[in-house]
Amino acid sequence: ADRTALTPLPPGSWLGMLGGGQLGRMFTVAAQTLGYRVAVLDPAERCPAGDTADLHIRAAYDDAAGLDQLAERCAAITTEFENVPADSLRRLARDRRVSPVADAVAIAQDRIVEKRFISSLGVPVAPYVAVLAEQDLADAPDDLFPGILKAARLGYDGKGQARVSSREEARAAFHAFGNVPCVLEARLPLAFEVSVVVARGADGQSVAYPLSENVHRDGILAISTVPSRQASDELAERATAAAIGVADGLKYVGVMCVEFFVLDGDRLVVNEIAPRPHNSGHYSINACVTSQFEQQVRALAGLPLGDTAMLAPAVMLNILGDIWFDENERSREPDWSAVLAVPSASLHLYGKESARRARKMGHVTCVAAGELSVDAAAAKVAHALG
Ligand code: ADP
Ligand code: MG
Repeated sequence: ADRTALTPLPPGSWLGMLGGGQLGRMFTVAAQTLGYRVAVLDPAERCPAGDTADLHIRAAYDDAAGLDQLAERCAAITTEFENVPADSLRRLARDRRVSPVADAVAIAQDRIVEKRFISSLGVPVAPYVAVLAEQDLADAPDDLFPGILKAARLGYDGKGQARVSSREEARAAFHAFGNVPCVLEARLPLAFEVSVVVARGADGQSVAYPLSENVHRDGILAISTVPSRQASDELAERATAAAIGVADGLKYVGVMCVEFFVLDGDRLVVNEIAPRPHNSGHYSINACVTSQFEQQVRALAGLPLGDTAMLAPAVMLNILGDIWFDENERSREPDWSAVLAVPSASLHLYGKESARRARKMGHVTCVAAGELSVDAAAAKVAHALG
């Protein structure tokens, strides 16, 4: 254990959230359920978390006055947005409890630093080189091709990435990204992908959620299945130990996720870490004793961490903005009644103002219900979503 547990914050206390997206919204709901009040800082006029929060501070993530207002109001502050400037977290931490700490978020913000850190823990990552200048591409080993060039910072949902088959393509992509620092990674033959969400308290004790098996489409998570069908128990144990090892290595306090690639022969490599609850852990809202968002509240408020056990096997399907458009790009409302007619389907919509293709708008979690298996329920939901 790092140090003694934090003094628990009593219900009625204000918790702060940097970032107004869906992760912040689900945190807000969990915090309010436990009797806390929530202030969200986000620059947008309206945003998913700002709409549900007790207070929405409309300010940029680096706006000193906005940050000071958040710190004045809140006893403890967390983030849902990994690209929040680390200096903003440092500023807040001068006189408030902030978790995760700036240094941990800073590592996850930069793919170069992240990969170096994970490797330093003895956990394998995909073969890569840091690309700071064109010469680094000229010097890159041949076996990194075909590869993926990823901007070191600010990527999400497959954005800021280019698949490159040759050095020439990598150079073109590097220029197209504006010569910003990148990593060039070998494109690996993935058997499948998994992730582990971990919650770690200030006392250094960790709990892990059951391993999720994840299918991505176009670089965006599409489906999570828990328990994994393809991972052996042994693989799940290794992934869980590695994820807890990363959390310990970061002296992390709060909820984080480690994404893994599984290669042939059950070989595991870390893809990336997220210093916050994760899309692949949304199933925990409906299928686990304690959701990942309640866990984030508990870790922040200095409460005991909750049980991560599953109540039922689950399949989570993401809802992207694409289904708001027909084949002629005319907008339409998806058939929510058809989704909700599926027994065991829990619909979560994030209240985003406008739908865009590839934008995460919500998700549905299915569990088994009576005669209906979880797979049959998920198939019905997938059909209803079109
Ligand atoms: P993001 O930060 O946008 O989530 P990731 O680096 O996690 O980006 O990549 C998104 C997805 O793209 C991964 O989940 C995986 O399906 C695919 N991918 C990324 N890197 C590789 C790789 N080196 N080899 C094969 N597939 C990859
Ligand atoms: Mg990812």
